[in-house]
Amino acid sequence: MIYVTRPSLPPFEEFIEILRDIWNSRWLTNDGPYHKMFEKALGEYLGVKYVSLFANGTLALVTALQALRITGEVITTPYSFVATTHALHWNGITPVFCDIEPNYCNMDPEKIEALITPRTTAILPVHVYGNPCDVDRIQEIADRYGLKVIYDACHAFGVKINGESILNYGDLSILSFHATKVFTTFEGGAVVCHDEKMKKRIDFLKNFGFADEVTVVGPGINAKMNEFQAALGLLQLKYVDEVVRNRRRIWDIYQQRLSNIEGVRLIKRNEAVSHTPQYFPIFIERGIFGRSRDEVYDALRKHGIYPRRYFYPLISQFPPYRGLPSASPANLPVAERVTKEVLCLPLYSDLPEESVEFVCEVIQRMQK
Ligand SMILES: *Cc1c(COP(=O)(O)O)cnc(C)c1O
Repeated sequence: MIYVTRPSLPPFEEFIEILRDIWNSRWLTNDGPYHKMFEKALGEYLGVKYVSLFANGTLALVTALQALRITGEVITTPYSFVATTHALHWNGITPVFCDIEPNYCNMDPEKIEALITPRTTAILPVHVYGNPCDVDRIQEIADRYGLKVIYDACHAFGVKINGESILNYGDLSILSFHATKVFTTFEGGAVVCHDEKMKKRIDFLKNFGFADEVTVVGPGINAKMNEFQAALGLLQLKYVDEVVRNRRRIWDIYQQRLSNIEGVRLIKRNEAVSHTPQYFPIFIERGIFGRSRDEVYDALRKHGIYPRRYFYPLISQFPPYRGLPSASPANLPVAERVTKEVLCLPLYSDLPEESVEFVCEVIQRMQK
């Protein structure tokens, strides 16, 4: 069986040592020593000023929206993991879906302005597959209309553009360290911000709003990362560069083996971007390839290969959202097409090269 992903973990013995330390200290959560160490080390590794650690990426998203006091309507993308839109819903915010562009599957900045109303307060784009959004254009629009920008950067751990962390764009960026991500702390997440005051507010909010023992500054939540997650994160930082190197090597093999199959479209490489590949997406153009995406999906499964259709269905098609005016397929023509073509192929650090070759072979043989 070849699954779409498999978590990378450090040597077990190293984690056991840390577990013993946590056991002896009896400090299990609430800004403990490992939390402090990991938060600092992570910020340095990523090249960002302020990081707040979270129990998971979804709570980080929910809290980020609270931190900026976002209300009303937020322009977002239907082409993402469902948690992006759920985070708006949990804040009582109406999502307004914006179509994507076909090259990177990110929000199409040219379609944002037409969706702005007097109720719009923010834009929530996603760096899909870790490919940076058009951050300059999005910021320009946000500045003109006085909107906040929150990036769902859950696919973009360690991604840099012209040597600068992609997490330094927008007002806030959100990371996930879920087991399926490039960098994992079992479950986990973070909010990246650019000033101390904001970090303080986020840290209060993730701990019930407590500013000190007797002061509650707002209706916070419990979204803290615990010591076990933080300890794993600290260890993972020692190995993440190796993991990323391995992932890039596999990415290159796919790129080379699949780039000349007619009807299999790949994502264009952006030379300004340093990637930490989360998935290897391909787009099956049925009219040219002669088979549909789902035929390829089924054939791979028959061979014990389990790709995933990220992102299918579109978030705009799920029951809580499909009644919204912006969820209508007529508003989202590119996303509606891409969601029927996409297939994310297995990609993880210790995926054997033979398996990559085998996946490519099965796809090649499918062509009609
Ligand atoms: C994984 C992911 C999330 C949710 O993160 P969790 O840590 O699983 O809560 C949100 N958005 C995107 C784009 C993701 O890939």
